[in-house]
Amino acid sequence: MTQSNLYVSSPVNALVQGILREEITLSHILKKGDFGLGTFNDLDGEMVLLDGIFYQLRSDGTALVASTNTQSPYACVTHFKPTHISEYSHSASFAKLQAYLHDLLLSQNLIYAMKITGRFSSLRARSVPKQEAYRPLVEVAHDQVEFNFEHVSGTLVGFWTPDFMHSVTVPGFHLHFLTDNRLHGGHLLDCQIEQGRIELQPIDQLVLDLPHSIQYLNASLDGDTMQALNKAEH
Ligand SMILES: [Zn+2]
Repeated sequence: MTQSNLYVSSPVNALVQGILREEITLSHILKKGDFGLGTFNDLDGEMVLLDGIFYQLRSDGTALVASTNTQSPYACVTHFKPTHISEYSHSASFAKLQAYLHDLLLSQNLIYAMKITGRFSSLRARSVPKQEAYRPLVEVAHDQVEFNFEHVSGTLVGFWTPDFMHSVTVPGFHLHFLTDNRLHGGHLLDCQIEQGRIELQPIDQLVLDLPHSIQYLNASLDGDTMQALNKAEH
């Protein structure tokens, strides 16, 4: 297996603690990959990076192309080179789709980048409005806005990450959705897939940046974030 890496711009623990602002720009992140997800400073929307273009999925459900000067407190990206491609052609719930994807994983101890381009009879996603102050992620999650899409085509972009890495990045499936016309999207909460093309890439190396902001340097990051992440991200 050729080595590929996941770049994480800051440990997710920091975001969970409410450190919602860092100086890392999208142009810096773009050097580390052309595919991935994350968020923007002050949690101003969900991020999708697809084919080297950053999309900002805002709390009104619309998507914009984000300027590369924009900063991010948390992003996970890779150079996407799928080694497994398959067609999925049944109607299935998100739970069934996750079980199917799970069976495709070689091992639960690697990371996987995944892209699913498909048609969905329904799909529920969320985004978060820009935050004014530092607040823990669990509190911010109360402000999330949910969107329901019906009969929509688009791309799910994201990762599967082992539970043991939960202080660094979101464990389990973490997928963001972008419609085919690139005008709408959000963090995936639920879906009913009708048909899709699944592309997977195992990842066996992690590159983690540790921020230098005063907030980060003084934060207490030893707490167990698993519960908070499960509430805020799944
Ligand atoms: Zn997300």
